Amino acid sequence: MNERDSEALACLLEADGAVSTDSEEDADLIVFNTCSVRDQAERKAIGKIGFMKKIKARKPGLVVGCIGCMAQNYGDKLLKDLPVLDFVVGTDQIHRVPEIVKDILRTRRRTAETQLDKIIRPELDGHHPGAVVAEVAVMRGCDQFCSYCIVPHTRGREKSRPIPAIVEEVKRLVDAGTREILLLGQNITAYGVAEARQDGTYTKDFSAFADLLAAVNDVPGLARIRFTSPHVHFMNDKFIQAVRDLPKVCKCFHVPLQSGSDRILKLMRRSYTAAEYLDCIRKIREGLPEVNFTTDVIVGFPTETEEDFHLPLFAARGHEIRAGLSGRRA
Ligand code: SF4
Repeated sequence: MNERDSEALACLLEADGAVSTDSEEDADLIVFNTCSVRDQAERKAIGKIGFMKKIKARKPGLVVGCIGCMAQNYGDKLLKDLPVLDFVVGTDQIHRVPEIVKDILRTRRRTAETQLDKIIRPELDGHHPGAVVAEVAVMRGCDQFCSYCIVPHTRGREKSRPIPAIVEEVKRLVDAGTREILLLGQNITAYGVAEARQDGTYTKDFSAFADLLAAVNDVPGLARIRFTSPHVHFMNDKFIQAVRDLPKVCKCFHVPLQSGSDRILKLMRRSYTAAEYLDCIRKIREGLPEVNFTTDVIVGFPTETEEDFHLPLFAARGHEIRAGLSGRRA
């Protein structure tokens, strides 16, 4: 999502007359798009932003900004801690960056803007044309509040874009040469759920995401559709039928498991059991033998025992497992 936000902001700045450069030394404006998912990501960003002091000493007119989850999380505290920063802009105010930069160039007044919004700004639909694979943000935020995750606090509550606006964006991309679309949402299978709950149309058979997949599947010239990240709780039969039947939806799904222990899943507030997870995988596999799955598993979660640790492997017995470990057991 940060990559997508960076591209959308670059398009907004370019529409305002900016040109990009490969060198920090040449830049008049440097914006750091930050992540709060791990402490190390924050420490790296703080170190790198602090390093801008040297460039600014040689070039006092340089404008330095911080956007993204860390900006949302700390707000004006970052302005106090990092005097080199001219602005801090949260996850829902990125569309305002061009205006904020102009204001800073005029007044040299430092600012922090971190209000969360109720809608997804249409200004953020810009892309650099010609990429074979393009990312399209379809919803933002998350209402799940998993106990280990900062997303609902830094990206706010779930909100989804209307299907026609997304299809228009996909059509523009395909006309410019794109063949594969990666649909993005923090909790993408809950696409449209918050809005349906508000207007009273939400039922357990509801899957606006299945409707969205069907609408994107109909775009002529598009070859492949992928999406990330789904949550098992919202993967109902309508969704499963769509991913099985729509020919452009790639038959390779990333479905975060997080733990095979129901006790740990409950502590994580994941709202499904290991058996429900496996049931969902089994339903997608029915009639679709070529399907592949990837997953995430958190190990070393507080209070996890040796027995809990081994449960994902026991729970997945009968399924082929090829593990690619990207972390070490805490
Ligand atoms: S569903 Fe995903 S984004 Fe939402 S709180 Fe849980 S881990 Fe975070």
